Amino acid sequence: MALPAPDPARGARRLLDWFAANARELPWRRTRDPYAILVSEVMLQQTRVDTVVPAFLRWMDRFPDIPSLAKAGQEEVLKAWEGLGYYSRALNLQRAARLILEHHGGQLPREDESLLALPGVGRYTAGAVQSLAFDLPREAIDGNVERVLCRLLDLETPAKDRRSQARFRKHIRGMMAENSPRSVSEALMELGALVCLPRNPRCNGCPFEGDCLARQRGTVLDRPVPGKRMPARAIQAVFGILTDGRRIFLQKRPPEGLMANLWEFPGGKLEEGESPRKALRRELFEELGIRSREEEKVGTLRHSYTRFIVTLHVFLVRVEDASGVPAPGKMTGRPSGWFTPLEARGLPMPAANAKIMSRWVEGLESDAEI
Ligand code: SF4
Repeated sequence: MALPAPDPARGARRLLDWFAANARELPWRRTRDPYAILVSEVMLQQTRVDTVVPAFLRWMDRFPDIPSLAKAGQEEVLKAWEGLGYYSRALNLQRAARLILEHHGGQLPREDESLLALPGVGRYTAGAVQSLAFDLPREAIDGNVERVLCRLLDLETPAKDRRSQARFRKHIRGMMAENSPRSVSEALMELGALVCLPRNPRCNGCPFEGDCLARQRGTVLDRPVPGKRMPARAIQAVFGILTDGRRIFLQKRPPEGLMANLWEFPGGKLEEGESPRKALRRELFEELGIRSREEEKVGTLRHSYTRFIVTLHVFLVRVEDASGVPAPGKMTGRPSGWFTPLEARGLPMPAANAKIMSRWVEGLESDAEI
């Protein structure tokens, strides 16, 4: 016998009762300020809630509104983002703040077109701001919400499939028809985060238990159906901690592209058939015009990005004469300099470089010998 499709209105009532009793206290839930909600949503992309909470509080303390963010220096913005990764999100937030000041009188717009025109704002973020801040009937479908709805509706298509997305939108709009869109959005996200967990869903305490098709058909752990996934690519890279005994050498990444404007150690990817030591020597010569002979391997670390996994070979390179780095006449086109460990700690860095700092450089006082 075919099971009846879950009724959105009835499900929404149960969901909202559950949310009223179980919602977590999160700082962005205490406000309806669209800017604060935008900041929290951007921070929460690919980052865990417990990492975001202190970062959000720090950020709002430092940049409490759109004008303060728009006017801040880029270095300060990057520094405030440290620990969250994916730094382009911070730069996009600042660009968005400037555009909002320039074109929308400093107020975050509500309409699809204006919101989606802001840098870093995609369909999910726009829907989250519209529903959470403005209480407009717009869906905010993140990975948690996808999982809940794939199970509730027992979808046999992957979550990203356009047929699934159309079913999600229809069901959520049905839930919002007679209820506050803000509450429906928040509650769905919370249910995905606390109850409808990927591997151990807590169906017994779930407000959808009676309606959930996957629960009734015994397909919960088969939903969502996985989509096609590209395997993560393995990359080998090398970094050199250049030191004159007291300071280390860092250079700034280019102003465009991946991890723009962050400070890093010199180095780069290994070429085919190249050993890490040989790659370091080549990179130091190409980037800085210096010939290294006595580098010492200090360790290896692994760092994962969304689409690749990097094995980083880290060397210590002692430099007799810091004024010769970069080599005189070498035009690197990138700001660079020598910093004590204390000074370097104040610079925004990509996560892998920050790991190198904490593992092999930090712990030393600013005037200590390295
Ligand atoms: S009943 Fe279980 S599978 Fe269905 S929505 Fe609730 S927690 Fe998820």
